[in-house]
Amino acid sequence: MQIGSRIPRIRAAGTDGWEIVYRARALVAAGETVLNLTIGEPDRSTDPRVLEAMHQAALGGLTGYTFGPGLPELRRAIAARVTARTGVATRPENVIVTPGGQAALFAAHMVLLSKGDTGLYVTPHYPTYPTTILATGAQAEAVAAHAADGFQPTAAAILRAQARTGARSLLINTPNNPTGVVYAPETVAGIAGACREADLWLISDEVYDTQVWEGHHQSPRALPGMAERTVVIGSMSKSHAMTGSRLGWLVAPEEVVEAATVLATNTTYGVVPYIQKGALAALDLGAAFEEEIAAPFRRRRALVQQVVAGSRSVSTAPAAGAMYVMLDIRATGLSGEDFARRLIEEERIAVMPGESFGAAAAGHLRIALTLPDDQLATALTRLVAFAEALVPA
Ligand code: PMP
Repeated sequence: MQIGSRIPRIRAAGTDGWEIVYRARALVAAGETVLNLTIGEPDRSTDPRVLEAMHQAALGGLTGYTFGPGLPELRRAIAARVTARTGVATRPENVIVTPGGQAALFAAHMVLLSKGDTGLYVTPHYPTYPTTILATGAQAEAVAAHAADGFQPTAAAILRAQARTGARSLLINTPNNPTGVVYAPETVAGIAGACREADLWLISDEVYDTQVWEGHHQSPRALPGMAERTVVIGSMSKSHAMTGSRLGWLVAPEEVVEAATVLATNTTYGVVPYIQKGALAALDLGAAFEEEIAAPFRRRRALVQQVVAGSRSVSTAPAAGAMYVMLDIRATGLSGEDFARRLIEEERIAVMPGESFGAAAAGHLRIALTLPDDQLATALTRLVAFAEALVPA
């Protein structure tokens, strides 16, 4: 018996880039030590206060179906948070709670695109972007943000791609995974202008919005004429170290939330109620807690910059946010893939080749700032020495 064509189509588009991750796992399973800089997940577990809130909620009987768009108190808290952070009046009816940001990305594209439509996404990109769009039955088209522009996408490139494909939506991500770049206010204004001009829905992935080291995070939904065409993706995974809890959301015009609720009724059946109570408790811990979670990444990004400073062979892309730094290794003459393959074989250090996030990141490496400081410093020092040895004196 043969399975249908949908999953093979997704799989074929999404197999790149995991080679180094699998190789690192195999080496560790064989008893070797690998300094692993590939993992985009906070290196701490969920706070006990949050777990206690989940525990109490579950013991208190909140163990049944939740249905619908989420617990009213959590929707209210998310709406209030978005209003406070962006200045855009946001009501609970604009919010649906989803099992993680990834489910929100899927829901947004399911709701906004019809079969055969085209969805644009900015590349370098988080690997599930094109495949999530493909999973809805739509076509996925990349809009490149170039290293020469500091990986900031331009309105002109978006408009060109839209004109070529007739796309109906655009997916962006700031602060950005994999580049660590935060879009400048002019970039966000340019994106918003292009979306208005070409009548595009904008899907704005802001799951790293609490991790900004330089400048500030500008949500495009706050710009004139954008609230009615923007869907914001949020998540507790990175901001509150809750990756395993699967708690995210989508903030959008009411009709989008209603449609996403119909989808939820036919897929997830809603989000685990005691996890939602945990998320509420986590949000109640306030901005100081978010900064506590972000602090190690802020510190480690500075550490990476220190180690790389003065190197002839390695430089960093403007690393202003998110828990990643993109290293430019083009001076070594190796592709990101070749560099990463040699680095794991010769130095037992695992990094993601830039190419696994799209051709626009060729000649780069993404490192996640998720190892303890001393191990990160050791890994980076060895990586830089390895790169230096490749450059003719
Ligand atoms: N968007 C981006 C840019 C991400 O990096 C991730 C996770 N690595 C997600 C969405 C999805 O995260 P989650 O489903 O855990 O919220």
